[in-house]
Order: sequence, then structure tokens, then C-alpha cells
Amino acid sequence: MSKIIYKYKVLILGDPAVGKTSLLQRFVKDEFKVDYQATIGATFLTKEIKISEDKADNTTAQLSLWDVGGQSRFIDLRTTFYRGANGALIVFDLIREKTFEEIEVWYSEMCKTLNKEIVPFVLIGNKSDLIKSEGRKVNINHAKKFAKDRKSLYIETSAKTGMNVEKAFKELTRIIAEKEGGEDVDLRKMKSEAFFIKSKIREYIKSEGYQTSIDLIDGNVLNEIIIEILDKAIAIAKSDGRKTVQPSDIEYF
Ligand code: GDP
Ligand code: MG
Repeated sequence: MSKIIYKYKVLILGDPAVGKTSLLQRFVKDEFKVDYQATIGATFLTKEIKISEDKADNTTAQLSLWDVGGQSRFIDLRTTFYRGANGALIVFDLIREKTFEEIEVWYSEMCKTLNKEIVPFVLIGNKSDLIKSEGRKVNINHAKKFAKDRKSLYIETSAKTGMNVEKAFKELTRIIAEKEGGEDVDLRKMKSEAFFIKSKIREYIKSEGYQTSIDLIDGNVLNEIIIEILDKAIAIAKSDGRKTVQPSDIEYF
């Protein structure tokens, strides 16, 4: 069976601790965790979402959602994760003004990397549940203006209570769909990028006569190993006074 399906790559961008990982967890798994763990490199999840409010219209979007680590030292790595992105949620923290000031940087870094003048996005002011106790630190009109000037929307969310989280992803998907349209894809053939990469790794390890432990593939372990290798390679290029990292910089262990 074949149906209209839209496949989009979506980035979640913003300063550390604004709630990117929490928004994703809330949207994909409907859960919220209090303890903070910085996301290193990037992780991604997939979720299908119905685009139309019309019950008879079952047009679906399959989103691959990329939670890109915010640490500045990962800037080179970060921009490689931008490749092929269709849009982004750009997130700031309603009770930390500094995170709003960085929004412009996140937006322009993305546009520059994707080589596009305008990229579909929704601007997110997160942690709306804290406004009452902590006080709003970002002027709502400034946030609205930033979005409006770039033909987009501003939405306030709380990953903690779940308020507007689904709405934010839906609006973004709608904005992307208006711009990009869809394609006719056989659902059974469709695989997420994650699945593809994981299966390649599994295949390789198997071809060497070994099994893969689940936490290598499903946890963040693989991601961390890749980061470690790349960090070493960057350091070697740097010590050589080069700006280009090349294959010979990769140390195998
Ligand atoms: P990230 O670095 O942008 O991925 O941020 P996290 O999702 O890890 O969240 C950073 C911290 O803020 C964590 O302690 C979260 O529990 C907390 N947090 C995230 N979203 C909200 C929210 O909507 N409300 C409140 N009160 N806390 C939040
Ligand atoms: Mg995170």
C-alpha cells in the first residue's frame, strides 16, 4: 500500500539547557525528566505526525528530529548535522534573556550552512511554566517580531507540562510542507536514516564475525566514540597548523 507521505529532517537548535532534549522527549515519548544531561554531538529520534486537521485526509509526515548538541566546541560537527535539513525549531529559555540574544546566531548559522536565504522554522520560547515564579525575561513582542520578520511563527511551550509542544511541531511541519510538498513513498520501504546507519554498523561488525551489543547501537555510546575520534583528529590537524582535517588524522584504536 502506498500513501502520500512527507519525509522531513528537522533540527532542534538553541543554547545549552533551553530545553531542546526535553521538548523532544515530551513530543516523541510524552515524558519529562528533571535532571540535566548535556547532549554531546547529536542524537535523533523519528516520529510520524498527521499533517491535516481534516479527518479524511491522512497525509502523514515522517520527521527525523535532530537534537544537535549546543556546545560551541562542537561547531564543526554540528554544522555537518545540518545537512539536508528541511526546517528547525529554534529554542530559547523564557527566563534567561541571553538565550534569546543567541537566536539570531543559531538562525544565521543554519541558513549559512544550508546555503539558503530562508529556512522554515518556528521560534520557541520554552519553560513557560516558570514565568509565574521567575518572571518573564524576554519581551513577547521582540520574540514575535523576530519570527514575523522571517515569515514565521512564535510559540511559547513548556516541556514540563506539555503545553503547546505538539502544536509547535505540527506548525513547523505545516510550514515545511507548504514549502517543500510531499512525495509518494512506499511505507514498507521507508527507513529512517537512523535505522540505515545502525544497520550498516551492525552489518560491518557481523561481517567481522562479531555480534553488536544493544547499547552500542541504541544508546549514545556510538555517538561518543565518534566524537572522541573526531576530536583527536581535529587536535592533530591543529597541531600541524592545518585548517583541514583529513583521513590520515583519524587514529584507530
Ligand atoms: P538542552 O540542553 O537544550 O537539551 O536542555 P534540556 O532539555 O536538557 O533541559 C535543561 C534543563 O531544563 C533540565 O533540567 C530540564 O529538566 C529543564 N527544562 C527543560 N524544559 C523545561 C520546561 O519547559 N520547564 C521547566 N520548568 N524546566 C524545563
Ligand atoms: Mg540536550
